[in-house]
Parts: sequence; structure tokens; C-alpha cells
Amino acid sequence: MRVIVIGAGMFGASVAYQLARNGVAVTIIDHAHPGKATMAGAGIVCPWATRIEDPSWYEMYAAGGRFYDELIGGLNGAGETELGYRKVGALVTATDPDQFKEAGERIARRVATAPEAGDVRLLSAEQARAKFPVLREGLEAYFIPGGARVDARLLSAAMVRAAVALGAEFRTDYAALEFEGGRVRCRDGAGQIVPGDEIVVAGGAWASQILEPLGIAHPVKPQKGQIIHLRLAGVATANWPVLLPMTSHYMLTFDDSRVVVGATREDDSGFDYRVTAAGQAEVLAAGMDIAPGLVNAEIIETRIGFRPAGPSVKPIFGRVPGVEGLSVGNGLGAGGISIGPYAGKLLADIVQGKPTELPVSAYAPQRA
Ligand SMILES: Cc1cc2nc3c(=O)[nH]c(=O)nc-3n(C[C@H](O)[C@H](O)[C@H](O)COP(=O)(O)OP(=O)(O)OC[C@H]3O[C@@H](n4cnc5c(N)ncnc54)[C@H](O)[C@@H]3O)c2cc1C
Repeated sequence: MRVIVIGAGMFGASVAYQLARNGVAVTIIDHAHPGKATMAGAGIVCPWATRIEDPSWYEMYAAGGRFYDELIGGLNGAGETELGYRKVGALVTATDPDQFKEAGERIARRVATAPEAGDVRLLSAEQARAKFPVLREGLEAYFIPGGARVDARLLSAAMVRAAVALGAEFRTDYAALEFEGGRVRCRDGAGQIVPGDEIVVAGGAWASQILEPLGIAHPVKPQKGQIIHLRLAGVATANWPVLLPMTSHYMLTFDDSRVVVGATREDDSGFDYRVTAAGQAEVLAAGMDIAPGLVNAEIIETRIGFRPAGPSVKPIFGRVPGVEGLSVGNGLGAGGISIGPYAGKLLADIVQGKPTELPVSAYAPQRA
């Protein structure tokens, strides 16, 4: 069996890597669209603070966080060590006392059955600022040691390289689908047929364009995110925890004095690649409100990414009913770095006809 995986973002790269690990022949085709969500993603992996309440979806989301230890271990074993991954911990705070209390109760409930979250502690405002020195004064915070950050660009590229090392073929190309003789065929940018028995569409915000020629209405749309990278020159930020102020904004740091402040969530944005005044203002204002110590930081760049946003926050993955040999993996929305690698593993199992660790029927794509 040969599987064609269209799209090498977090979802497709993971499906391809997991299939290749299982000895399946894989062809990965990625168009490298600017605005690929995985290239802009912040990189926070901390399932225990999320507001997800649906029990079975939360179980899967948390499993996605847990899966990271296995994933990173496997990639390290394959010689892939530059992933920007570090368990720096997460600081959860809030400027509203009621919200802070609510967050504390939610986290306590979750970590009670999640030893991998580590020993969660309530920090005084001074202790919190010792961990995240630019933080606003007077804010207590919960510290979750198991929280992590990862560079999704490095991680997805590493999964593709690891798949190729196991025999997968990788092409930078544009894939198009059509029905031919009752089966779905994939053609490359030159119009040549790409040989394969199964096709996995992991095209993120572009997937509806890929599926449309098949008459499949796929309900995932682009949700634009503008995310700003700052540099605090001369400051060693590498071990600062991820900062989650319980709003749609957040902060995380990387090794090169880099502080990443995210992000806008622009519904119905279409593929609008512009860095806008409103987007910059929103993200910078939210960042400096929670971390006033950033006022003198240098703006290095703003990244634009289109989150693949479905009708709900749950992903959509599985076989497309009534279409032999066609599967979809999409709808990762704002959580695809956390859940994408695990969802990719589940989809790889589905494609191989193997049982999945968790029930997946609630995520199955529809035909219409
Ligand atoms: C600003 C921002 C911050 C985020 N922060 C976080 C975070 O901190 N934590 C978290 O968990 N998640 C985060 N996310 C969400 C996460 O980045 C996404 O959910 C995830 O990356 C989506 O991965 P994907 O593989 O589905 O899509 P994508 O990464 O968009 O990949 C889809 C790929 O398909 C390719 N493609 C499309 N059409 C074709 C075609 N016809 N032929 C060939 N290739 C094609 C595209 O070129 C692209 O490479 C963030 C997202 C954004 C935008």
C-alpha cells in the first residue's frame, strides 16, 4: 500500500511519520503556502489549562499533550534533536480574581489525574515575577511544571525528515484531486498522476479547495492569526515558562532572547496576508498589559498564519464516507500544535485499519 499525504503541516507531517514508522510507503506533497499555520504557530503545549469542557474531547486533547514525551523521544532517537522543545513549565494567571479562582479550580481538577503535569504550585506575585521577570506586578500565578513549548516549524520539518529517512518520498508540489473511474486520483502540479492507493488530505485552511472538485463540501475555513516576535536584547529568556493569562493572548520565549506574543483570532479573514495596524495594536497592547517589562523590546517580525477552523473546536479526521481510499485530517484550529501529532497518529492508525487508542467516531468527516 502507498499513501499520498497532501500537506506537511502539523497534521500531515505526523500522519506521514507515523505511517512510515509502521513500514507503510508514503508520498508527501506539500505546496508550502505562505500562511501555513504550522509556520506561525506559537508552540504552547499545556493541555491542563484549556477551557475545553467536553469530557471526551478533553481526554483526547490531554492525550495529545502526553504524547509529546513519546514523540520527542522517538525523534531524538532518530537523530532529530533540534526541535525547540523544552518543558519550561506554564504560568497561569489572570487579572480578574474570579477568573483566576476558576482557572485554579479547573487546573486542580485536571492535574489530579495527570502526574505528567508535575507538582502544581500557587506562586506569590514575587515568585511569579522571579520566573517571568517582565510580568506585571501584583499577580499571583499557578505554576504547572509539565507545560512545554516547541518550535512547530522545526518539529514538523523533523517529522518529515524522519519519515523520509524511513523511506517516504517528499515533494514540494501542488496536489489536485479528481474522480476517475470511480476512484479518487491525485495529480501533481504538472498534471501527472501521483501513484497511491490511499489519499490523506491534510491541507489545513486550504483543504476545502482540494476537496471541492470531488463535490465534497468541507467545513474548514481560514482563521487569520497575527503573532509578534520580540527580542529582549541581552536577556536570557530560554527557560522562562509559557505565560497564560487566561485570555486569547499568551506569551512564550525561545533561546535567542526571543519573546513571542500571540495572537489575533480573525474569523472570516479569508487568505488576507496583510500585517494590519489593528492586529499589531491588539497583540502589543495585550502583551504589554500583562508584561509591562516588554515596552523596550525590539519588534523582530510578525508572522501570519491561517488556523484551519472548523465549525466547532474539535478536529475532523477519518475516512470520508462513501469515497474509497480518501481520508481527511483537519480542523486543528488554535490547538494544532498540542493535538496535531497525536491526531496524526490516530489518523495513521485509521488509514491502516488498526484500532485506535481512543474513540474517534465523533471526529469523522461528513461526505456532504
Ligand atoms: C498565530 C498562531 C498561533 C498558534 N499557536 C498555537 C499554540 O501555541 N499551540 C497550539 O497547539 N496550536 C497553535 N496554533 C494552531 C496550530 O498552529 C495549527 O492548528 C496547526 O499548525 C495546523 O496544522 P495543519 O497541518 O492542519 O495545517 P497547516 O500547518 O496550515 O498545513 C497545511 C499544509 O497543506 C499544504 N497544502 C494545502 N493545499 C495543498 C495542495 N493543494 N497541495 C499540496 N499542499 C497543500 C499547505 O501548503 C500547508 O503546508 C497556532 C496557530 C496560529 C496561526
